[in-house]
This record gives sequence, C-alpha cells and structure tokens, in this order.
Amino acid sequence: MAYYNDKTIVYLNGEFVKAVEAKMDLYSQSLHYGYSVFEGIRSYKAVNGETRVFKAKEHYDRLEQSAAAVNMPYHWTTEQLIDATYETLKRNNLQDAYIRPVVYAPANMSFVKNKESFIVIEAWEMQPFLGEKLLRVMTSSFERPNPKAFKIHAKATGHYVNSLLASQEAKTNGFDEALLLDMNGFVAEGPGANIFYEKDGKLYTPSPGNILPGITRATVLELCDELRIAVEEKSFTIEELKKADAVFYCGTAAEVIGWESLDETVFPKPWDQTLSRTIQDAYKHKVVEKAYKTTFELA
Ligand code: PMP
Repeated sequence: MAYYNDKTIVYLNGEFVKAVEAKMDLYSQSLHYGYSVFEGIRSYKAVNGETRVFKAKEHYDRLEQSAAAVNMPYHWTTEQLIDATYETLKRNNLQDAYIRPVVYAPANMSFVKNKESFIVIEAWEMQPFLGEKLLRVMTSSFERPNPKAFKIHAKATGHYVNSLLASQEAKTNGFDEALLLDMNGFVAEGPGANIFYEKDGKLYTPSPGNILPGITRATVLELCDELRIAVEEKSFTIEELKKADAVFYCGTAAEVIGWESLDETVFPKPWDQTLSRTIQDAYKHKVVEKAYKTTFELA
C-alpha cells in the first residue's frame, strides 16, 4: 500500500513538510533499539460533513503517558498536537484517515536518557471499515510481553516486534489473526486489538495489567453503560473463551470486528443476533456522531 506520494504533507517538529523531503537521523536510538512511542488514531467524516478526529484528546494524552513511561522527553501539549493533526488532514485533503504520530529519539548508540525527542505526524486515507467478515483466530505460540520486562501499558514501538511475530505466525498458518495469552496463561489481547467475549447476555474483557488498555476498549465499556449491557473485567482462560456465544476484537484500526472461530472452534450464535453486533453498530454510529437507536428495549 502507498502511504504517501510526492504531494503528501507531514507534520515534522513544528513544520509542515513534504513526506518525500522529510528526513530523520539514521543514527537515531529509535531505529537501532525500537525506542519510540506512537499512536494510531482515526478521523472520520461526521454526519454533519465535518472532519472529526475520534477521541483525539485520549490518544494524545496516552502518547504523553507512553513517553513518560519509557523516559522520553516530551515537550508538546495535547492541544497543540490536536491542532497539528487537523492541519495535517486539511493539507492532505483527508477526512476518513488513519493518523500516526511517532515520538522518536535523537542519535544515540548508548543507553543513556536523551535530552530531546522529535515528533512526526503522518496521515493516510482509510475508508470506513465495514467489519462484516468474521475473523478466524489462532491461539499464538507467543505470549504478550511480561509487564515486569516492559511498560506494557505504553504504546512503544519495540513492543510491536511481539505483535508482528504473532500476527505473521497466524497468517502463515492460514488464520486471519492471532490471540495472545499473558505470562500467567490467561487471555490477554490481539497483536493490535483488545478482546471481548459474550456469554448468556453479558460481555467480558480482560482486566488491565497485562494488556494495552485500548481507547476503543474504553469506548466499548462506555457503550455498554449507555446501552445497559452488562460487562465485567476479569481474567479468563482459552477454555472459557471457547465456550463463548460470540467474541470480538476492538481497536482504532479494526473498530469492532467479530470472530468466526478460535483454533477452528466456531462460535455458535449468529453474529447478527449478538449483543456484540449491537456494540459494533453503536460504535460505527458514534465515530461519525450519528444518533444510535437500539432495536431492543432498554431494561
Ligand atoms: N492492544 C494492542 C497491543 C494494540 O496495539 C492496540 C492498538 N492501539 C489495542 C490493543 C487497541 O487500542 P486502541 O483501541 O487504543 O486502538
């Protein structure tokens, strides 16, 4: 996929420059040691026709927290970066887009802390994801990183080698995506998404601790509250998950996407009849600021 062309503009350290002319230092600690923090954000053309960056504040606040977690200097405000994001979208004539800010390190081959950081904000077109196809998922042979080895709640680039390995393994084995367990053998998350399962009219999701606490996960919890769908955060095993009525992944890129099966065990409830499907619809409405009415009576 072409992420940019010779007209694409990126925000680079306070300036708007052409992507093809933008430079970074090849001696950066980020390139050599996987040491940077980033965000994955989406913007949508809202029902009123305007461009809306979904949960922009939450994403840039998390970027700042990720930088703090891994000792990277951070000298931007959320407001300033939100403004830069809207300006990047405008200059590239984008409405439905994926936005990727990365905070990266200067040239430094040692392991000492840096005195400065740099930032780039890139954006590219992303069509609204329909999410109708259900995923065939495989339990990964890779575990999520041990939280005593990494600041697992931070969105740091180095963590994503684990995600790449897991996702590539699943695809090599003919599946759509991987599911990773935590170091205690409980279900953790996907390579780039959080998990929920549905059983007997209630939703369950792993508690924070061994996962990246996603902004979409938080949105799903809000939607459950608004729609009065019961939801619980708890630890659970693969065996428990395989007895679910339905399962879905959620994340900024994937939005809410249902599963067909886990390790060839098919989830029995037709997707259209699940509460999970209701959440998927409500999410699709929320991101474009469209009012949502459930087809079932609220209790
Ligand atoms: N877990 C991991 C490992 C991720 O990379 C992502 C994507 N950022 C998520 C969960 C979902 O997070 P969010 O909803 O904030 O995109």
